[in-house]
Amino acid sequence: MLLIPCPWCGDRDETEFHYGGQAGVPYPERPAELSDEDWGEYLFVRDNPKGPFAERWSHAAGCRRWFSIVRDTATHEIVR
Ligand SMILES: [Zn+2]
Repeated sequence: MLLIPCPWCGDRDETEFHYGGQAGVPYPERPAELSDEDWGEYLFVRDNPKGPFAERWSHAAGCRRWFSIVRDTATHEIVR
C-alpha cells in the first residue's frame, strides 16, 4: 500500500487517487504545426526512469484536486 500525501487532505491510501502521468510535460506552443509523429510523441512518449520521477496525481475520491509529487519508481518512496 502506498500512502500518498495530498497537500490538502494529508496522507491517504493510494486507492483514493488517480495517476496522471509525468509532471511538467509542456503543451506544444503551436500544436497545429506539429507533424503526426511529433504529435504522437507529445501524446504518448514519456520518460520511464528508475529512480526519482515527477508525477501528477488527482485525489479523485477526496478533494478532487490535482498536484505533483516526486516518487522514486524503484522504492515507491515519496521524495517530495
Ligand atoms: Zn485531497
